[in-house]
Amino acid sequence: MLLTLTYTGQNTTDLGYLLYKNPYRPQVFNLNHGKAYVFYPEASHERTTAALLLDIDPIDLARGKVGTSGGGLFDYVNDRPYVSSSFLSTAIAKVFGTAMTGRADTHQALSDSPLNLAATVTMLPCRGEQEKLKTVFEPLGYDVTYETFVSDENFPNWGNSKYVTLTLSGRVRLRDLLKHLYVLIPVFDRHKHYWVGADEVEKLLRMGADWLPNHPEKTYITGRYLSRRRLLVNMAFERLSAANVLDGEVIADEPDELEELEEPEATEEAIAQSKIEEQKEPDKKMNLNTQRLGSVVAALKSCGAQRVIDLGCGEGNLLFLLIKERQITQIAGVDVSHAALERANKKLKLEQAGDALRDRVTLFQGSLTYKDARFAGYDAACVIEVIEHLDMSRLAAFERVLFEFARPPVVVLTTPNLEYNEKYETLDALSLRHSDHRFEYTRAEFREWASDVAKKHGYAVQFSEIGDLDAKLGAPTQMGVFTLCE
Ligand code: SAH
Repeated sequence: MLLTLTYTGQNTTDLGYLLYKNPYRPQVFNLNHGKAYVFYPEASHERTTAALLLDIDPIDLARGKVGTSGGGLFDYVNDRPYVSSSFLSTAIAKVFGTAMTGRADTHQALSDSPLNLAATVTMLPCRGEQEKLKTVFEPLGYDVTYETFVSDENFPNWGNSKYVTLTLSGRVRLRDLLKHLYVLIPVFDRHKHYWVGADEVEKLLRMGADWLPNHPEKTYITGRYLSRRRLLVNMAFERLSAANVLDGEVIADEPDELEELEEPEATEEAIAQSKIEEQKEPDKKMNLNTQRLGSVVAALKSCGAQRVIDLGCGEGNLLFLLIKERQITQIAGVDVSHAALERANKKLKLEQAGDALRDRVTLFQGSLTYKDARFAGYDAACVIEVIEHLDMSRLAAFERVLFEFARPPVVVLTTPNLEYNEKYETLDALSLRHSDHRFEYTRAEFREWASDVAKKHGYAVQFSEIGDLDAKLGAPTQMGVFTLCE
């Protein structure tokens, strides 16, 4: 499968800076089921094209990966290696992840501007839904053309195949084009190669934040992206509505005619993948984690908090410590990931616990970037190693949700110090610590952001550093403790 991105105008080889891929150096990336190649079929002052070619291993797909016991994802004879599908979305996120965030160190202004861009997606499956290509892509500002193919030239009466080669062109920011493709390719191709779980709702809302809430086909897109799983679709709709209330506009529509589907068992593949994603730098991290959580508990104790909410609680490491603190009478844990909350539930043994502990601890699913009345009423909120998982463009929503609406008297917030990454052997100076991190702040950047937030919302903020201190680079974790000034 092949995706090309063409930039026309002036100095168009700058596309290389936006994609972080040198036009004169082809590159190969390893994917779970094959390889991705990035190269530039043309690069000139007026017109530059970057190509992402996926070489998916059909045997691997059919048999399962070497070393795993489970079967493969698809039958031996399948179209997956050749068509544009969720594999392509996954590759876009992996290979052009930074471009999707909009970060372009040396060429930020260019990245922030709409450019004359065209994308061609070869062999996109879309049986009988060609008219949807227009109603889905045109409202996003694209001219839409597509080429169809006869199924078999020897048998013209078999008609056209279900595949089209789609070309979108328009004046858009590169990051928006990539996000549109990321979400909408699997909307047309219906077979996701991974388990569609609650985390997909978050991915959809994150990738669609700027364009989905007001899209005339949002019902269709949401239903198809989430493989018509009613529970997930409802969850997404609730959140889309909440998002719009925050923006002063309400969406009234409901998803219609969704098929009720049994939830399939998670495949071994999906489970293995989620385990890989969850692994964070193992050794050093253990120690740093303990130090970090110790500092957070100390900050909470010193401000006398009794009711504490942990926003983005993950698998409940902080909650586990808070339970041991007698001073703390009410504890809530919130996370967007259902799987993380289930692990927290297990870790805290809430199922087996007596009424006293169950009354004291609440876990619930929610997102920090949507206004939520359940976040209010606590003496302190903790946001530990979470902000770097939010898209920069959603950081402003998070600030309002926490500091303007929930407005706790104290906020304890930690985030990695980007400068310190130099000390990790496996990371170079510009790499982030975890593949899901959208950004990391240097000490100066964090202080500037936090001071700005504090000022805007009437808080004072104090900073500290956690972990082994390096004279030049600082400590691995930075903490801000905000206190409400009223
Ligand atoms: N605070 C925990 C977990 C940090 S990992 C700890 O220190 O161990 C980041 C967590 O933030 C993950 O569990 C992730 O699911 C959660 N998260 C990411 N985006 C979120 C969002 N928008 N709303 C709520 N939680 C989110």
